[in-house]
Amino acid sequence: MTGSPAEVKLVSNAMANATRRKIMAMLVEKERTKEEIEQAVGGTMLDYHLQMLKQAGLADTRGDRVLITDFGKNFMETKSDKPAETKKDLAGTRPLQVVELRQLLPCIADSSKFRIIARFEPPLEGALKLLEPLFPRARYSDRIGALIIQRGNILITIYSTGSVTMTMIKSEAEAREVLEDLKKTINEAIAKGVTPVPREKVKVDHAEIYQYLPRTDCQICGEQSCYAFAIKLVGRETEIDKCTPLLEPRYATNLEHIRTLLEYL
Ligand code: SF4
Repeated sequence: MTGSPAEVKLVSNAMANATRRKIMAMLVEKERTKEEIEQAVGGTMLDYHLQMLKQAGLADTRGDRVLITDFGKNFMETKSDKPAETKKDLAGTRPLQVVELRQLLPCIADSSKFRIIARFEPPLEGALKLLEPLFPRARYSDRIGALIIQRGNILITIYSTGSVTMTMIKSEAEAREVLEDLKKTINEAIAKGVTPVPREKVKVDHAEIYQYLPRTDCQICGEQSCYAFAIKLVGRETEIDKCTPLLEPRYATNLEHIRTLLEYL
């Protein structure tokens, strides 16, 4: 999710409905089958409600299973918790530990790579935003309360709640190495107590986005080619959901990559 006005509207429309809020509350607890959801909220327009949540990036379906996305998880956490106040400096921030590496799932687009979910503790909360200048390609997103860091092909998202997601990881050993490296950089800044100086924002261009599109030039999105679509995406003249081929499971990792890159815009 990029935080564009259109996407904010999708999220607020999705969450404006009591049935969809109930579905999200169920998904926060655990993944569900459509049947379980139907038993709890009724079958009327269930597909429509799930489609609304999917379009907003809050939930996803895998066959008969319905699960919450990382964005959805963070959205629900920020709704239930008092938002973390942004700190002015790193004073009082405690050093991080990697306490969990919860999932190591193959990336659908490239089965030789993995997607991982981990956790840093204590959560950085309001101090997270201050860390953006520590990394050459990083951007803090106020809307999702997360710091997005690009390291080669790997995209790392650190949430203010402590959750960390990483894509395009080669192995568990690489995941641990990247996490330890991040921890070291952040803890060194905390130990020095010097707040990093803000620097120019990272730029993402259309060529980078284009790499992750299906590149079939099918024109379903209404553009002449994937390249033209990438240019319009970067110019905020279209929305990622218009490329419906990207919603196919085999492009799940590409879609996540593009959504994350769009956070840099
Ligand atoms: S719908 Fe997607 S794959 Fe098709 S032309 Fe547009 S960007 Fe390319």
